Amino acid sequence: MPIYEYWCRHCQGKVMLYLPTFSQSSPSCPQCGNNTLQRLFSTFSVHKTYKDVYDNILSDSQLVKGMLSNDPKALAEWNKRMSQGEKVAPEYEEMVDKMERGEMPAELASNSLGGSLGEATEGAD
Ligand SMILES: [Zn+2]
Repeated sequence: MPIYEYWCRHCQGKVMLYLPTFSQSSPSCPQCGNNTLQRLFSTFSVHKTYKDVYDNILSDSQLVKGMLSNDPKALAEWNKRMSQGEKVAPEYEEMVDKMERGEMPAELASNSLGGSLGEATEGAD
């Protein structure tokens, strides 16, 4: 079953929703009932190995904050942690390298991750 991860701005925490299909564009938070959820990532089936990493990342409020504000460095850190123990393609390394220098690679700026995160925080600054 696909798991969708959301960040609740009200609870200031992540919630995981198990949805058979992604039909609701904005489900309410199962914890506080508010419609203050923003989807963290696109469809994401949590692998066991990823889950711990993921929890670790999401418990790092500084990192989450950076990710939500589309901070390239935070995204680089996220990528680093998510790719733990996995082989990373050279071009991917290069991309992460760029982000660590504070640059947003074109590949990311236009894809769903950067897009959805940017969208979600629009006007929040
Ligand atoms: Zn909530």
